[in-house]
Amino acid sequence: MIYADNAATTKMSEAAINTMVSVANANWGNPSSLYTHGQAAKEILEKAREDIAGVIGAAPREILFTSGGSEADNQALRSAAALGRKKGKMHIISTAFEHHAILHTLEALKKEGFEVTLLDVHENGIVIPEEVDAAIRDDTCLVSVMYANNEIGTIQPIREIGNICRKKNVLFHVDAVQAVGHIPVNVVDDNIDLLSASAHKFHGPKGVGFLYTKKGIALSNLIEGGAQERGKRAGTENVPGIAAMAAALKEADEKMKENALHLTKMRDRLIKGLGEIPHSALNGDAHQRLPGNVNYCFEGIEGESLLLLLDDKGICASSGSACTSGSLDPSHVLLAIGRVHDVAHGSLRLSIGEDINESDVDYIIQSVKDVVNYLRGFSPVWRDLMSGKTEFIL
Ligand SMILES: *Cc1c(COP(=O)(O)O)cnc(C)c1O
Repeated sequence: MIYADNAATTKMSEAAINTMVSVANANWGNPSSLYTHGQAAKEILEKAREDIAGVIGAAPREILFTSGGSEADNQALRSAAALGRKKGKMHIISTAFEHHAILHTLEALKKEGFEVTLLDVHENGIVIPEEVDAAIRDDTCLVSVMYANNEIGTIQPIREIGNICRKKNVLFHVDAVQAVGHIPVNVVDDNIDLLSASAHKFHGPKGVGFLYTKKGIALSNLIEGGAQERGKRAGTENVPGIAAMAAALKEADEKMKENALHLTKMRDRLIKGLGEIPHSALNGDAHQRLPGNVNYCFEGIEGESLLLLLDDKGICASSGSACTSGSLDPSHVLLAIGRVHDVAHGSLRLSIGEDINESDVDYIIQSVKDVVNYLRGFSPVWRDLMSGKTEFIL
């Protein structure tokens, strides 16, 4: 099997698994308990907090553990919105191609009286900082822009946007779920106030993540109850999961340069090979993208059939995001970069992992070529394109 769906989730690293098992075995006490066995678990928790903070340039007390990226996104947006409401600032700026954890929370906030501006991400899938600047109003309480897109992998000019927000005194949240552990992220250098991350996107376990909140910004609770996490996130902490997340992140951070170099090489080989397929187009900027992300549209075919046939060849890939598969709506991300419905339906996302090699890449290229050819062979859409009845877009 060639696993090329790392944007959906990653395999846990050996370090993460070993840490998870050893903590579950030896440190299963409740970190809120006062006896030694509980305090040992507390120590593990605080060591993990320190390690994670260290990787992103934060202070340990600025890290709050959550159940993952979605929860961190929800809490970040709701906290900033609550602070805005107090000041009568009810305007939020985000982008059209955010993850649904952001977009759906913004929809909910709209029903609660907030006004939302979604910025254009243009054909290359990159937000223009000057457009963020121009969209900020006196009543803007929050700007939320993702670090790297989960479908097309494009990396946003976060530092510049953060700088603008800082100057205009507007809170800046970054969904960095696809970036943390993969590309350098530093909350100080990048001028970030709130940042979401998730362990299972960097070879940690599922169901655990964190929210960074710059000192001095008050968080609102999503979950009421005990006083865990400085009273901001009730519930007994997932100690083995959190320890494993820290282990995974430390390793990802140490190997980041080496991994990125290899992945970029493999990515560019894939991009070149798939580009030989006629009437195809790469989605998102070719260079300002995650080292492991390739996303293509092939005209005249349907993404779902492509995925099933690739699965038969032992290749795990995706079209759009795992969250929208199962629905027939084309990806909101591809629509946001201007792909029309028909073209957006024929999309393929390959998010490769560090263990991929050249022969895997060549096998993927040949398989996609074969499957696209095969599907076009009996596609009525393709027939109309070839006969000139309809016009090619790509
Ligand atoms: C995966 C993902 C999320 C959601 O994270 P979970 O831990 O699965 O809840 C949020 N944002 C982005 C960009 C993602 O890729």
